[in-house]
Amino acid sequence: MARRPIIAGNWKMNKSPDESVAFARELSPKIAAYSEVERVVAPTFLAMTAVASELKDSPVKVAAQDSHWQADGAYTSQVSAAMLKPFVDYVIIGHSECRAYLGESDENVNRKAKAILAEGLQPIIAVGESLAQYEAGETVPFVRFQVIAAQDGIAAADMARVVIAYEPIWAIGTGKSASGDLADDIIRTAVRATIAELHGDNTAESVRIQYGGSVKPGNMEEFLSQPNIDGALVGGASLDVEDFAALVEIAARVKGH
Ligand code: PEP
Repeated sequence: MARRPIIAGNWKMNKSPDESVAFARELSPKIAAYSEVERVVAPTFLAMTAVASELKDSPVKVAAQDSHWQADGAYTSQVSAAMLKPFVDYVIIGHSECRAYLGESDENVNRKAKAILAEGLQPIIAVGESLAQYEAGETVPFVRFQVIAAQDGIAAADMARVVIAYEPIWAIGTGKSASGDLADDIIRTAVRATIAELHGDNTAESVRIQYGGSVKPGNMEEFLSQPNIDGALVGGASLDVEDFAALVEIAARVKGH
């Protein structure tokens, strides 16, 4: 089954609203033609509505960097999927920085995923092991556990709208990336096979799975030429217009159907 590749730029806590809008304005025409590729940017909450407005006639979609699982209520600092709905198509959840610094638990990732799907949005669920877990040979059982926990109670029919981002924590922002073969092997055995066990082969074949961790134009082809890697969740390289555009162009060339 042909899965549409997805390149998503996670801008993290970077770029003011003005800078974000200017970036989106410059980026959009450079990548507009590559319709084979789903193109997504995730600005800060502060810039999100302005970027969504800038991109409203563009094929480039907007993602939020998080959302709460309740629709509204006494949750200081939080933003719900229901509130995000007019502005975004995707929501990134379970990012390792949120897990590490903000105490994001597997249970809350699952609650968020269900709320995002219920609003008709698409979650990008990040999973991945630490360096210590990698070195101890615990990657596959750990990532399997995260994948099982994240999709608890999600119907097979909704899984096609879920994107999973496999991001080894030791490769995020470090300049060290996993090899394409290693990333594909982990994605196949710990992510796609786990979805297949829970929801069947057809569903597992429909789910898009990204690699993330120091992706840049120079290594993008190595990842995208793998059969189980359907795109990338990109931090650092997504902050540069030329690099982001190059990643999209490579995705269209390598994975465009
Ligand atoms: C990320 O934060 O999701 C990420 C992959 O970052 P970087 O590309 O900078 O490693």
